[in-house]
Amino acid sequence: MAGAELVLRGGRVVDPETGLDAIADVAIAAGRIAEIGTGLPPALDEADATGLVVTAGFVDLHSHVNDLAGLRLQALDGVTTALELEAGASPVQAAYRAVAAEGRPVNYGFAASWAQARMAEVAGFPADGDVASILRRLGDPAWQRPAGPAQLTALLSRVERDLADGALGIGVLLGYAPDVDPEEYVRVAGLAAEAGVPTFTHARDLIEMRPSAAVDGAQEIVRAAGQTGAHMHYCHVNSTSQRHIDRVLGLVGRAQAAGSRISTEAYPYGSGMTAIGAAFLAPERLGERGLVPASLTYAPTGERVASEARLRELRQADPGGLAIIELLDEDDPADRRLLMRSLTFPGAVVASDAMPLTWTVAGDPLAWPPPATAITHPRTAGTFSRALRLLTRGEEALSLAEALAKCSLEPARLLEDSVPAMRRKGRIRPGADADVVVFDPATVADRATYADSTRPSAGIRHVLVNGTFVVRDSAIVPDARPGRPVRAEPR
Ligand SMILES: [Zn+2]
Repeated sequence: MAGAELVLRGGRVVDPETGLDAIADVAIAAGRIAEIGTGLPPALDEADATGLVVTAGFVDLHSHVNDLAGLRLQALDGVTTALELEAGASPVQAAYRAVAAEGRPVNYGFAASWAQARMAEVAGFPADGDVASILRRLGDPAWQRPAGPAQLTALLSRVERDLADGALGIGVLLGYAPDVDPEEYVRVAGLAAEAGVPTFTHARDLIEMRPSAAVDGAQEIVRAAGQTGAHMHYCHVNSTSQRHIDRVLGLVGRAQAAGSRISTEAYPYGSGMTAIGAAFLAPERLGERGLVPASLTYAPTGERVASEARLRELRQADPGGLAIIELLDEDDPADRRLLMRSLTFPGAVVASDAMPLTWTVAGDPLAWPPPATAITHPRTAGTFSRALRLLTRGEEALSLAEALAKCSLEPARLLEDSVPAMRRKGRIRPGADADVVVFDPATVADRATYADSTRPSAGIRHVLVNGTFVVRDSAIVPDARPGRPVRAEPR
């Protein structure tokens, strides 16, 4: 073999699909893995991987990050593909165009956005395909109103157009519009079933939280799968289920056993992060989740919300401002076990729900590293390393290949029926995309914390996207923008 551009030399190559786990060289050419073997000939560039694991880069199905600093933190956590599937974007073409114009270090893609289509048709907000616009309007009651028949038809046709344009499925921020007619959700799932793509749902409130709700959030997802045959992906089971994780996963597991296509994801943190104006963070509704104002930390000032009055004030003044919300207690062993069950559930994938940085003091968004005044949720920087640490070195002790499958192979498989490009991701074998992470399995760990949220993970040595280094020797390669779009091919 001649002409390899790069050889990763002498690492432990782990491919969860084939079971390969052996010391070998990996040769890369033209953005793909060209060859895996021992004693491969020298290439133009070489990187020593002795003592390190060489495997497929992580595929994040749930990233809201649209800024360079946030994407770099994700790359430093081993992520090579970061997809916006829960919020999505509409028109999806506008989202792809905007990203293509600026370039990204990692691969990207979008689902159609039910919320943004609804914001346009029910509230009259301009649909610009920008995820930041969704976040800004999330708490606005105007888009959460019941849709009239003509509005419903119009919003569904926006979603259909996005699917025809290659959207990776339909993102449904249902939990942010808690009084939407359950029939509308079934119609959305029906569209997904017709197009052969998944839906990605932020579940409605659980019946334990809101006994007056029209429907239980978990049952609704399961029922839509049964009624329409759509593949329903249940976003961040950990955060929307809180201490009802066992009930929710029990329900999902029974429906899966009965033949429904339902998949789940989780991130390994007890706190969530969302817009402070979200419906379920209204002062009068905090009690449903066992929360008080002080369970919220408002990111732009770093303050713990002192009172109901202050919460009202912040929701009024800055409804799109991000807040960290304590949902499970990471210091409580029972809560920690719940969190781990959401990760170890069969087929559950690791997905970050990564958030863009909030710049509490204006600064250069291209500066690296970001200043300490730019903050986010630690899940942005640490989800995958933390999951590997907890799954392979904690009480769970999954095999390394099992843990890696949850980060790369299984998320790729989850999409590949409708996204042919995903068949070349999540694997390390000849012909696969050269999206590769090289890390130290003994030391890989998250370092970001709630107080210091942008500390990059430890133990990640090299990250390649389409054969180009975006992280080399644990440092960001400043100008690398090798990310490519990932699109679906709908039926
Ligand atoms: Zn969500």
